[in-house]
Amino acid sequence: MAAETPFSHQTRAAALSSMAAEPVDVLVIGGGITGAGIARDAALRGFRVALVEKGDFGSGTSSHSSRLIHGGIRYLEHRDFRLVFEASRERRVLLRIAPHLVRPLPFVFPVYRGSRVPGWKLRAGMWLYDLLAAFRNVKTHRWLSPKQVRKAEPALKDRGLTGAALYWDAQTDDARLVLATAQSAARAGALIANYAEVTSLLTPDGRVRGAAVRDVLSGETHTVRALVVVNAGGPWVDALRRMDDPEARPLLRPTKGAHVAVPRRRIGNERAITLFSPIDGRVMFVLPWGELSYIGTTDTDADASPDAVRVTAADVTYLLRSANAAFPEAHLSPNDVVSVWVGLRPLLGPDSGTPTAAPSQISREHRVVESAQGLISIAGGKLTTYRVMARDVVDRVAARLHELDGRPVAPRPPTDRLPLPGGEAAELDVLRETARARGVSDATARHLVASYGSEMAALLNLVDRDRSLGEPIALGRPEIWAEVAHAVEREMALRVQDVLVRRLHLFYEFEQHGTAVAAPVAQRMKKLLGWDEIREAEELVDYFKLVERARAFRAEIGRGSREVTI
Ligand SMILES: Cc1cc2nc3c(=O)[nH]c(=O)nc-3n(C[C@H](O)[C@H](O)[C@H](O)COP(=O)(O)OP(=O)(O)OC[C@H]3O[C@@H](n4cnc5c(N)ncnc54)[C@H](O)[C@@H]3O)c2cc1C
Repeated sequence: MAAETPFSHQTRAAALSSMAAEPVDVLVIGGGITGAGIARDAALRGFRVALVEKGDFGSGTSSHSSRLIHGGIRYLEHRDFRLVFEASRERRVLLRIAPHLVRPLPFVFPVYRGSRVPGWKLRAGMWLYDLLAAFRNVKTHRWLSPKQVRKAEPALKDRGLTGAALYWDAQTDDARLVLATAQSAARAGALIANYAEVTSLLTPDGRVRGAAVRDVLSGETHTVRALVVVNAGGPWVDALRRMDDPEARPLLRPTKGAHVAVPRRRIGNERAITLFSPIDGRVMFVLPWGELSYIGTTDTDADASPDAVRVTAADVTYLLRSANAAFPEAHLSPNDVVSVWVGLRPLLGPDSGTPTAAPSQISREHRVVESAQGLISIAGGKLTTYRVMARDVVDRVAARLHELDGRPVAPRPPTDRLPLPGGEAAELDVLRETARARGVSDATARHLVASYGSEMAALLNLVDRDRSLGEPIALGRPEIWAEVAHAVEREMALRVQDVLVRRLHLFYEFEQHGTAVAAPVAQRMKKLLGWDEIREAEELVDYFKLVERARAFRAEIGRGSREVTI
């Protein structure tokens, strides 16, 4: 048998056995950004930690975000200054500990005559935004004249333009940020398993003392005993709380957010654009992502369970209409849509003090709640503030463990200074040079550095051993075959969709959702993971089902070729 590799199907199997064999201090349910952050913080405090995720890491809300690590300019309107202050600080932290995954991004926020927010107010807001970041944002904002806006963003609507703010936030690869955080937790000693679902909580004496965990791939169930159980279920948080107390009042008021991605040349934006939707006046974004731009987001009350949420024709129409109004030459139609994604925001519900608020006005703050039976749940929050959320939860866990067995309260670990895997090298240019010097193309070098940071060395070693692994997976794309092996051996990818959707993003970025490469990827994974023909076929069927689901809005739109204009 091959030697055990870090963060692979083998470490997963070992983690499941270990957590079933011996009780853990803390069992974390949910492998989104919140659960991964909690596992990392708790493991760094020296606790024996287990984390179980029913799907793949980040497969819930955390890989369906707007991919922004931001102070949250629009929260200024709601006077949520504390949140903006905290999020701005976290933006700085994440830029430092994961520079490959969290990258500075310039935004242009144009103002027009009669805008919902007049120019003077936006100017004041921008100063406040810089102030709340202690003037330590990537750069402070600048005000652009109409002429400067036309030069900077020639495709933007010109009529009535009175100027624009040029300001900075950051953009991330959300799925990879979760993965890197989970890997970091594992390196600190956490036992981590994806495709491991909590089916019930253990309450032998009325207290929550662990959970029954089903291995989703084998069907086997393990009993995991834990001193403390943490529910980091994101939009599933209330469903998990009801396992503990069927009468539990909902903590959440989830709202649904959809995005559409289109070829960037069809819009023509150079930078990120912040705009007011002409439909309902909400703040929206058009964000660059390589050769694509994505438009988001909607913010509506959730009408489906987190497992069944999907992008509707109404979502797509809203997003395209809003973008068409801002970019009059774009004339985007549903035919331009390359991919869509949707998630539910696990926002705080009625008890948060905003019972009648519109979805986009619900607070993004977080809260830690402990049930009478001892289940600790975390609700609310954002990708940007996950580290603080995790710290607050683990402070509570540390206090409980101290009460339970008298151990000293472990000090907070420096999670704001310890780099995430791949984030050790601050000089990304040097990394890119190294990759080029080892024989990969410029595009691949950029892609590898942006995805893996200094962990890229492991991929280049694979290519050194087998040059064929340096070949592109699809002609004209930067992704190489070594990444499939790496995903399986070092990133716990267990399914074709793990590789194509969350490790490589070809599902979102490549034509026809990457269906052309699904079969060869499955073949490689078959060899790496020892699948039989049936499993290989099932993987492909499931992948095609996912593609069907992402395309469902097209059938709803009808023939699908009507131009959407306002
Ligand atoms: C459209 C949209 C855009 C957003 N944009 C941004 C943004 O740009 N910036 C930002 O900072 N924030 C953004 N957010 C918010 C952010 O994405 C979320 O706050 C965050 O991802 C929530 O993470 P989580 O880990 O709490 O939830 P999730 O990522 O949903 O994780 C919960 C996990 O629990 C697992 N789970 C559930 N039940 C079980 C069970 N029984 N057993 C095991 N596992 C289970 C699920 O499979 C899931 O993976 C956005 C949200 C949305 C919806």
